[in-house]
Amino acid sequence: MADILELRCSVCGRSYQAKEVTYTCPVCRPVGTLDVLYDYPALRTQLDRETLRNQPYSMWRYKMLLPVLSDTEAPPLRVGFTPLYDAPRAAESLGIYRAWVKDDGANPTGSLKDRASALVVARAMQQSIAVVSTASTGNAAAALAGLAASVGMKVIIFVPAAAPEAKIAQLLVYGATVLLVEGTYDDAFDLCYAACQSEGWYCRNTGINPYTVEGKKTVAFEIAEQLNWNVPDVVVVSVGDGNIITGVHKGFYDLYQLGWIERIPRLIGVQAEGSAALFAAWKDGTRAENMQPIAAHTVADSISAGLPRDRARALRAVRQTQGAFVTVSDKQIIGAIPALARSTGVFAEPAAAAVFAGAQAAVQSGVIGAAESVLLLVTGNGLKDVRRAQESVAGGLRVQPTLDSVRQALNL
Ligand SMILES: *Cc1c(COP(=O)(O)O)cnc(C)c1O
Ligand SMILES: [Zn+2]
Repeated sequence: MADILELRCSVCGRSYQAKEVTYTCPVCRPVGTLDVLYDYPALRTQLDRETLRNQPYSMWRYKMLLPVLSDTEAPPLRVGFTPLYDAPRAAESLGIYRAWVKDDGANPTGSLKDRASALVVARAMQQSIAVVSTASTGNAAAALAGLAASVGMKVIIFVPAAAPEAKIAQLLVYGATVLLVEGTYDDAFDLCYAACQSEGWYCRNTGINPYTVEGKKTVAFEIAEQLNWNVPDVVVVSVGDGNIITGVHKGFYDLYQLGWIERIPRLIGVQAEGSAALFAAWKDGTRAENMQPIAAHTVADSISAGLPRDRARALRAVRQTQGAFVTVSDKQIIGAIPALARSTGVFAEPAAAAVFAGAQAAVQSGVIGAAESVLLLVTGNGLKDVRRAQESVAGGLRVQPTLDSVRQALNL
């Protein structure tokens, strides 16, 4: 466990004790997401990379750098320590020196969101909280429902009534109570937050709960450790609300503060053209506090966000690391599903495959240099959205049940 030194507002810089504030900065309100900071000089003297030697192969191997008590029991589902693959054919097709793929679709409910939900559930157990709740139609809700089911915790999910039935099915299978809100996603989000405040439930809403990032940062820890502490030049991350890229940044930041890595990679955020609020703000230097909501539309539902909840920190992650935002069209995203799968064997949902299209765009525009080493973070499993996968490929070859017909079809 790591003792929290302070919660610091990412917008105004005000510092709070962990006991004082549960969600966002009381002064800046929702835009003021809070960083969970530790006493790094002290940790530096207490820990080194050898500390990891006998730790389990999951996100909990980094428990000493997570905001949980040392006797906290981790939920039993095995979250994290997902595979990291060398991807020479992807590198070749992208025209870069070296590429790796980190497959977070291999997590128990199929996405990187499991890391955040596991930490939130662990903290809820630690505080004897009986009910956790979130508003989401997608992977965050599935992750919370799955992790809560693994420990028998009650979970209440708020979704817009118009949410896709398949996604709602995954929540119901895990036994979550699903409230279908007659309204928009924002209505569901606000209602969930209000219900949590009044009923004492623990709220996992993205950009409200400071601890989701602490779970997600473990993916950066793993990238560093799996590459023997030689971090890539560039990490490419798809971005909707901006909480994942913030987590990746925080993970590298922690390791850098500890002296376990020598530099922080450049972070490249990939947005869909139809949901590119952060790209636009980054491009014209708009401050997070002044961003206005846009109407977001993309096939990659997991990165559709009109006013990204973690906008302040997503902009900071890119600006501080000399990274960039790039945009890709829906057509490029769909095309990236087979391109990634065929060059690496990793099947990604649209929002996750977008990193391949984003890397392509970044190489073409010179944002990524040919001599750079690049890690593509795959955030979600392709089986999450089979319909879009079907759109990305031609059909099979129809044959009669005869060898002749097979030969004919294959031009043998
Ligand atoms: C949530 C999600 C993202 C985007 O993460 P943000 O924190 O919203 O930027 C990307 N890919 C997948 C698969 C996701 O589930
Ligand atoms: Zn503030």
